Amino acid sequence: MSGEANPFESLQSQIDDAAAHLEIDDDVIERLKYPERVLETNLTVELDDGSLERVKAFRSQFNGDRGPYKGGIRYHPQVTRDEVKALAGWMTYKTAIVDIPLGGGKGGIVINPDDYSESELERMTRTFATELRPMIGADRDIPAPDVNTGQREMNWIKDTYESLENTTEPGVITGKNIASGGSEGRVEATGRSTVIAAREAFDYLDKDLEGATVAIQGYGNAGWIAAKLIDEMGATVVAASDSSGGIYNPDGFDPVAAKDHKNETGSIVGYEGAEEVITNEDVLTMDVDLLIPAALENAIDEDLATDVQADVISEAANGPLTPAADEVLEETDVFVIPDILANAGGVTVSYFEWVQNRQRFYWSEEKVNAELEEIIVDAFDAFVETYEEYDIDNPRTAAYVVAVRRVAESFEEAGTLL
Ligand code: GLU
Repeated sequence: MSGEANPFESLQSQIDDAAAHLEIDDDVIERLKYPERVLETNLTVELDDGSLERVKAFRSQFNGDRGPYKGGIRYHPQVTRDEVKALAGWMTYKTAIVDIPLGGGKGGIVINPDDYSESELERMTRTFATELRPMIGADRDIPAPDVNTGQREMNWIKDTYESLENTTEPGVITGKNIASGGSEGRVEATGRSTVIAAREAFDYLDKDLEGATVAIQGYGNAGWIAAKLIDEMGATVVAASDSSGGIYNPDGFDPVAAKDHKNETGSIVGYEGAEEVITNEDVLTMDVDLLIPAALENAIDEDLATDVQADVISEAANGPLTPAADEVLEETDVFVIPDILANAGGVTVSYFEWVQNRQRFYWSEEKVNAELEEIIVDAFDAFVETYEEYDIDNPRTAAYVVAVRRVAESFEEAGTLL
């Protein structure tokens, strides 16, 4: 993995690229390039041995023009203020392209969660939730899972918030487990939209998904579910990687068995169905029909992009391609389904979870998946329509044209007077 692009600068250049095709005042575009606010906080956490540790945490509320701020909280040593600002911005345009009534936000704690016990993580999460309490709420800002967080952390945040507020308000956070008010289909949703978008792209490009070869970088929640679902659609997963390395089998392997191996041993490397061990870079540059980057930002930079051989990329991760990599792939005619569309299933089903929480009326998994399917297909159609209508070369720019226009319209309709 390489690439030193600053994700916040990447976001801003993506907005500028879209603005060049839109007739929106520069001063409005300026607003759309900056977060409304960023909380930077230092949490004091008691460790199991009784000592205290200071950990840094952030929450960026990027834009609330279309609804309450929405976006996950990640636990990762590489979390920075600029990363959180970028991720919150990407959420703003993600909720806009799928046209759900939410804004964009994102948060993170700068830790490697593997370094802490479960009780330490619980105290840390509850301390962060206490800090966040004045700024979050079902109508204000609704956090969710992201890298290295999941149902467990969401349940803790919900419980802390409800205890402090002396209320029941499950819609303050999404990605909870079912017993705490979660939605069917939420865990699978990011991987699901990644493959729905890939299927639509193959259809659009007149390519056959049946028998298509697929490589997946990252085998966490989004990556492994995408592997499982694309395999069910008839494609052949030939390569995958996680932080320990990659595996390859030219005849394809069983994504579920590879996941079982990872659950048992901590890594997919060593899984007997795909014995050839390869590097993360090999996975990203493999000669496959479809590449799914499902790890972190900047996975493919300008240099690596020149070696990419996939025909289609569906971005399960946020920001996996630098803007310079986009330019290279534009030249080599790789069709990129941008993150704000491809991985929008997660936040879309979060929206369904929030709706169900507010109505206190819960949907079947079948209904969740059917509604998700419709939203992603509609968003894909709006994206390719703009891609063609504006004759834009970079698919990401087409997606931003749709999304930026929607956010700008909400802002302009509302005006600035109090
Ligand atoms: N963290 C996910 C994302 O980047 C989901 C956010 C949410 O559900 O609010 O889209």
